[in-house]
Amino acid sequence: MAKTKYVFFNGEIVPHDEAKVHVSTTAFKFGAAVFEGVRGYWNERQEQLYLFRMPEHMQRLEFSQRMMRFDEIIDADYVTGKAIELIRANEVRETLHMVPTVFVNGRGGPETRGPVALSITANPGFTRGFVQTGCSVQVSSWQRVPDNAMPVRVKCNANYQNGRLAAVQARSDGYDTALLLNSRGKVSEGPGQCFFMIRDGKAITPGTNNDILESITRDTILTLLPRYCGVEVEERDVDRSELAAADEAFFCGTAWEVTPILDIDRLPVGSGTIGPVVTRLKEAYFQVTKGEVDDYPEWRMPVYET
Ligand code: PMP
Repeated sequence: MAKTKYVFFNGEIVPHDEAKVHVSTTAFKFGAAVFEGVRGYWNERQEQLYLFRMPEHMQRLEFSQRMMRFDEIIDADYVTGKAIELIRANEVRETLHMVPTVFVNGRGGPETRGPVALSITANPGFTRGFVQTGCSVQVSSWQRVPDNAMPVRVKCNANYQNGRLAAVQARSDGYDTALLLNSRGKVSEGPGQCFFMIRDGKAITPGTNNDILESITRDTILTLLPRYCGVEVEERDVDRSELAAADEAFFCGTAWEVTPILDIDRLPVGSGTIGPVVTRLKEAYFQVTKGEVDDYPEWRMPVYET
């Protein structure tokens, strides 16, 4: 990923290498931090950068802070304003991935709740080749952490050790990524992405009571599948063996966008190639995110004044 000139850190825009957190902070020691991953899509014709579903990401960032009981909530308007200021300062005029993080900058035990600080990075050129090529998936032997152990609805940095273990195992075993089952043995999600499958012309995705993040891309896909692909979606439990009955499957997420799944546990999904529904969905997703179609203007926040 390309490095930008500036980072927003603790109240100001600073040179990239000056954004440093002390090793004694509760954020560093115990993972007391929450974050968002937001993409900005560059529209060449309009010479505009659109932040995709920024208000929804900011709402979730506020929710994460409240849930993790930070003693101050850094609000959506403030983070949005600073993010736009930072992107403009960096003069990013290409697709980017932005990460605002609110963290406990105080020092003390895990119960320390403040003071909190905000950092924002906005890096251009973050693409995953799997969006084009598709990926291979291992059903992980790591279980998705249950919501009554760690709040999976929030993007707390510490939560990510669960998916990280699954991803590292998958890579070591020769797969591209992992799919985790939850404590009930039902399909949950990937380390940083939600799961969909197409079976007999219908889409199926695990409901939000399956220990998954309430993903903003998942919500987007629930709208796009009927609208652009003529495919209805069922939100319900998915058994492990039902994975073998999928005609097509894909992951979605801010970083993963729409990523086709070619095989699961080495068993090809359908024909083992990228299928027609996923192909059409991918196309629609990028048209909508980049503003190449007029639909859903409320999902795109322009960064530059016109
Ligand atoms: N699940 C997990 C565990 C994630 O970290 C992410 C990435 N934020 C997703 C799903 C996808 O969520 P979103 O579409 O909101 O980026």
